[in-house]
Amino acid sequence: MKKNVDVVLFNPPFYRFFGSHNDKLAPTLGYLANYLSKYDISNIIFNADFSGAKKYWSLETLHENYKFFIDAVNGKSSLYFEVIEQILSFNPKIVVIMAGEPLIPTTEWGNPFVGSNFSENLRELGIFTIGIGPFYSLDSKRFSYAFDAILAGEPSVKIVDIIKNKKKGVYFSTLKDKNILPEFKNIFPLKQNTSLVLSGVGCEGKCSFCLCGKMFSKFTKKTKQFCERTVVLDIKRRKEKVIYIGDLNFSGYSLNRLEKLYNELKIQNVKKDLVVESRVDTLTKSKAEYFKLLNIKIVKIGIETLNADKLKDFKKNISVKQIEETLEILKKYGINYIFYFIIDSKTSIKDYENIERFIIKWRPLYIVPNLLAYDLESDYMYDTEFSPLLKKKYGIDKKLYKKFLNLQKKNNPTVGKII
Ligand code: SF4
Repeated sequence: MKKNVDVVLFNPPFYRFFGSHNDKLAPTLGYLANYLSKYDISNIIFNADFSGAKKYWSLETLHENYKFFIDAVNGKSSLYFEVIEQILSFNPKIVVIMAGEPLIPTTEWGNPFVGSNFSENLRELGIFTIGIGPFYSLDSKRFSYAFDAILAGEPSVKIVDIIKNKKKGVYFSTLKDKNILPEFKNIFPLKQNTSLVLSGVGCEGKCSFCLCGKMFSKFTKKTKQFCERTVVLDIKRRKEKVIYIGDLNFSGYSLNRLEKLYNELKIQNVKKDLVVESRVDTLTKSKAEYFKLLNIKIVKIGIETLNADKLKDFKKNISVKQIEETLEILKKYGINYIFYFIIDSKTSIKDYENIERFIIKWRPLYIVPNLLAYDLESDYMYDTEFSPLLKKKYGIDKKLYKKFLNLQKKNNPTVGKII
């Protein structure tokens, strides 16, 4: 029998509406669990996107299954009933609903409209709801009707005040503790993937297409780094042998910081493979040397485009020359890489051919071709980075999009591996 709790920290289904799943536990929910437990507020993290399947459908299948997602955004899916039944089994007074991970807003972790639908249903059942996530933070006016309260920004101890006093409204929140560990003691379902660790928060990039820059300028302000001892403790206690450090730009840290992390790994005798995200303009030869020492096996790189004008439009502040120089360095140190590209209204067959040549030359482990999505000034209700509606809006030829997907297929990525 399930234990009753005061609060359910809830990650609504997202990929499950497309027929797939996301088994990774979100750091934000772990930090919130830590704060609540400290104040004796019983809680459970419920990841309703979990299925436990080992295989993942390709982006192409998700793209083809889009009609199910549109229904879900419109509130029509039996999954709402199934998931709410689970939530009610915990008998909570309050449910915190996360739509998108506010600490890693580059990743599709949820849809804010689906989160709002859950919230409205739960409120009808007399449950107090709190929304958290990048969309509720940056576009809170649009969603405040659906929630009792919104925790705008990052997870913090502010959640305790809102919960204890059932405070209504929108509250700004920033994560201040440098020694906090996400708490995953009480999770449902039990067998979730806990490989995602954060060693710091924030990205000072101002890329026009990315929600991180917007979250950063409004809430984070200054890149935060968790204390090295805490980070390594966190890595050590995870059961997985490969740890994905979800920081938005791991190579942005100083050599001193990388050295401290390396020393701490030695002190705590931790030997795990690491995967990190990095910008090419901060990944120097000396940092790659530390990457090797830290046992970093894969670097995820947002290349976005090989077109110089578009790199400028995207305010990415990198050049193709810089990208290739960095890849040369990584190759020299035997570190693998994954590339992210953006497809938008200006993407042409010539862009595709350049990317294809580039991939043949550099042989990444995977490539992820994402459609430009989530322009908060537009109606982003049905957006995802693999949306057929966006493909149509951008006038992207079906065959061209398919070529991008096939390019991905050749490299065999799956949703599970890229999240
Ligand atoms: S470098 Fe740009 S794309 Fe990457 S996380 Fe920062 S703002 Fe986003």
